[in-house]
Amino acid sequence: MAASGAHDSPTEAPQPVEDEEIKTFKDLGVTDVLCEACDQLGWAKPTKIQTEAIPLALQGRDIIGLAETGSGKTGAFALPILNALLETPQRLFALVLTPTRELAFQISEQFEALGSSIGVQSATPGRLIDHLENTKGFNLRALKYLVMDEADRILNMDFETEVDKILKVIPRDRKTFLFSATMTKKVQKLQRAALKNPVKCAVSSKYQTVEKLQQYYLFIPSKFKDTYLVYILNELAGNSFMIFCSTCNNTQRTALLLRNLGFTAIPLHGQMSQSKRLGSLNKFKAKARSILLATDVASRGLDIPHVDVVINFDIPTHSKDYIHRVGRTARAGRSGKAITFVTQYDVELFQRIEHLIGKKLPVFPTQDDEVMMLTERVTEAQRFARMELREHGEKKKRKREDVGDNDDTEGAIGVRNKVVGGKMKKRKGH
Ligand code: AMP
Repeated sequence: MAASGAHDSPTEAPQPVEDEEIKTFKDLGVTDVLCEACDQLGWAKPTKIQTEAIPLALQGRDIIGLAETGSGKTGAFALPILNALLETPQRLFALVLTPTRELAFQISEQFEALGSSIGVQSATPGRLIDHLENTKGFNLRALKYLVMDEADRILNMDFETEVDKILKVIPRDRKTFLFSATMTKKVQKLQRAALKNPVKCAVSSKYQTVEKLQQYYLFIPSKFKDTYLVYILNELAGNSFMIFCSTCNNTQRTALLLRNLGFTAIPLHGQMSQSKRLGSLNKFKAKARSILLATDVASRGLDIPHVDVVINFDIPTHSKDYIHRVGRTARAGRSGKAITFVTQYDVELFQRIEHLIGKKLPVFPTQDDEVMMLTERVTEAQRFARMELREHGEKKKRKREDVGDNDDTEGAIGVRNKVVGGKMKKRKGH
């Protein structure tokens, strides 16, 4: 790995000032034109991570930010960068590395929103290494800022070699911000190699989830998962949901099942093409769909502002993923619910999650007799979903299509209409 002269243990940031003392971005040292941009985005006051990180970043310090998605961390690094850019405008000023293209896209949207009045341009070139190696005349020798966002995830996705290569071709004399939800050994190694005398800003103590998040679990036999899912969606109707499944196939199947029952569900997973994924996400963002079904590929970094409820339909195998999944709700001061399905096979994994977050979760209350009344309709919808999945598989073979081409499940609603016409009504009593 490149670079030396870095210090092992970062200094802790001073305790953030109380809410009453800090009122505005201006108080943090942000320049007027950017304060106005925050205002226009409806950012009334800085979030905790912004309050901690921005003044230090403006002083020129390297920053380690331990912050979850939803904490406002993008603003925490974008504002100091834009502030510095305004002082010394130049091309290729800052580079932000992120694990996924969706996240890159969302970060560039925030940069552009904040920098709209000063003509900031951003691009999401995809794999930067290809660009560096193959695009004539492209180099990063004048770079002033490097951000590594979701560093733990970048490294978990085996981008270590790529990160090393990038560190070698950018100037040592730069500012570096490293943001990560978790401080793994790999992240610590990267921090030592890439940051100079960094200061650490953490918005919550290790692995703690946000306060406004109500977390529950539901212990159910695996064969009733679908039925309980439908029951909860009915019980909490009117909310927006993000449902996590362990595989692409189960995401697809569950989306078909729900659509067969009249729910506006849409899948988002790694086997879909990039444009389908963004399409799904945009429909969900525009509130045209209220239920997003996703794998863990989609569970990190996405900027989905209005998820009211997260359902862990399949329990995460890595308990840290739990934190990332539930980080989709209770964002930016709003409240939210997370419900984790625990089957007979998941008890140990669930105990690990409770251990990680340091608390015992309450059971999500259900009326079992009401749940059981849904069994028949759910069984029928399961049958249709299986048929549709099979048909889709065969069609794919015939046409040699990209899996993503039909993945929003919307071409497969013909069968659904035979099951139920509209949204399921909640049935009370017998
Ligand atoms: P992030 O953690 O960077 O993914 O941001 C999560 C969401 O919070 C985004 O939709 C931001 O637009 C929003 N946000 C960031 N900073 C603020 C703020 N100071 N006040 C209100 N919302 C914010």
